[in-house]
Amino acid sequence: MTTSATHPATTSVQQRTTRQKRALDQLLAACADFRSAQELHAELRAGGARVGLTTVYNNLRSLADRGAVDTVRTEGGETLYRRCESESHHHHLVCRLCGRTVEISGPVVERWADEAAAAEGFIDVRHTVEIVGTCRQCVRARPRGAVRR
Ligand SMILES: [Zn+2]
Ligand SMILES: [Zn+2]
Ligand SMILES: [Zn+2]
Repeated sequence: MTTSATHPATTSVQQRTTRQKRALDQLLAACADFRSAQELHAELRAGGARVGLTTVYNNLRSLADRGAVDTVRTEGGETLYRRCESESHHHHLVCRLCGRTVEISGPVVERWADEAAAAEGFIDVRHTVEIVGTCRQCVRARPRGAVRR
């Protein structure tokens, strides 16, 4: 007896999960602008993928946690997603007014995060650092007198 063909149900769930993730990856790769989970879900459904909004949302959250997608929040509190330009770990400067994101590296932050975690004996550590502010264009577009230097 072999152990290779034991759990067919589990395998098919895993295969479906992988397919759903791949479809989402391809969709994110194809669009350069920010989309909401609902918009991405609608496009996946339109493309024939049988996937629920919760699954799309969860996949986006885990991609965002890994730093594979950029997120911005609209003024209405909705989160929009876009695939990161940079594949490796990085951080973002995010404009709170227009949502413009700039990818930045933070060697000092990396060292500090590793050391702080190691000092407390933590392993498998990850961190999220986003710097939110008002970008240069938005500062220029502000009415006179609104900007203090
Ligand atoms: Zn990014
Ligand atoms: Zn801006
Ligand atoms: Zn970092």
